[in-house]
Amino acid sequence: MNDCIFCKIVKKEIPKELHFEDENIVAFDDINPQSEVHVLFIPKKHFDSLDLLSDGDDMILSSVRKGIKKVVEEKGLNGKGYKVLVYAGGAQTIDHLHFHLRGPLGLKV
Ligand code: AMP
Ligand code: ZN
Repeated sequence: MNDCIFCKIVKKEIPKELHFEDENIVAFDDINPQSEVHVLFIPKKHFDSLDLLSDGDDMILSSVRKGIKKVVEEKGLNGKGYKVLVYAGGAQTIDHLHFHLRGPLGLKV
């Protein structure tokens, strides 16, 4: 955990322009964007994986919801389509829980 790159971003040892910050999470651009908008939402507390959250950590999910709403509005993604992705349980490449917000996607007709 000491050498976790996302913990360093939380501690501002690696500077990032933040799209959202509250007491629970921060959000910043993915360094290797897979779409026009590709923002990562990460808890300030380190969790290796989504399944390691407990009931007492639900405020983190609430913050992610608020952060996504803000970025979706700022980036004009409503009506254009977006997705939220979490790799977990060993599928993630960085072991600090993060939610990807990616869009626009185009809409199903
Ligand atoms: P995954 O664990 O598969 O969800 O992927 C980790 C994501 O973190 C990838 O999309 C990377 O491009 C992204 N990433 C890795 N290092 C950084 C960094 N220093 N700043 C922003 N995004 C990063
Ligand atoms: Zn970490």
